[in-house]
Amino acid sequence: MSTQSDGLAGRDLSVAPDAAQLCELRPGVHAWVQPDGSWWVNNAGAVSGDGETLVIDTCATVQRTHRFLTALGDATRGTPIRWAVNTHQHGDHTYGNSLLPAATVLIGHEQDDRILFAGDLLFAGLTPLVFMGSVTGALTTLDWLAGMTPEVIVPGHGPVLAGGEIDRVLDEHRRYFQFVLSEADRGLARGATPLEIARDARLGEFADWADAERLVLNLHRVHADRAGHELDLVAALCDAVTWLGHPMPTSV
Ligand SMILES: [Zn+2]
Repeated sequence: MSTQSDGLAGRDLSVAPDAAQLCELRPGVHAWVQPDGSWWVNNAGAVSGDGETLVIDTCATVQRTHRFLTALGDATRGTPIRWAVNTHQHGDHTYGNSLLPAATVLIGHEQDDRILFAGDLLFAGLTPLVFMGSVTGALTTLDWLAGMTPEVIVPGHGPVLAGGEIDRVLDEHRRYFQFVLSEADRGLARGATPLEIARDARLGEFADWADAERLVLNLHRVHADRAGHELDLVAALCDAVTWLGHPMPTSV
């Protein structure tokens, strides 16, 4: 287990993305970890070998992606980037693709050496967001992630996880998704809206996680799935802002 990844796991998340660090998890396997991991502040990574580099996700802005690619170029002594993979299509993970060399080939998912780049299937220490897919699907995904028995996970947002932290964070996600489902179903039974359910809900152990307003978005997701209609993204975001009482803090 690399001491660097262990060190990152306990880091202070209260600093800005300017303090991002490239962390070598294994020889040639790097994670780009941007604090504080909240809205638009994602993780990325790269795998280098045989004189070539595969990039896993980019960043939301030109400046952040440039910083990532510069650090990567330094660490790999300029090994050319041949391929890139996006864990999913959200802008925080893909907008920087335009800064990749023009000849870069975008390919499918990658798992390497028991290091798993999980994308937004995991938000370590932050409130998970389930916009696409479903909350029940997200629960199933946790078993799928655990079944891969990774030694290190680079989550979509938040610090790198290693060893026992992986099970702990998977369990936290499990409890959170079950909490969302049970609150949603109890609320539905009494005809409450997602915003009303969120206002009545007690976040308990999840209250300290950043981006708590995602509860409202996740409840909208369950409501839409249970009712069999599309998620109304604008209504969901408006409700999240109403629940918060002010605009969502973002770092774009
Ligand atoms: Zn993300």
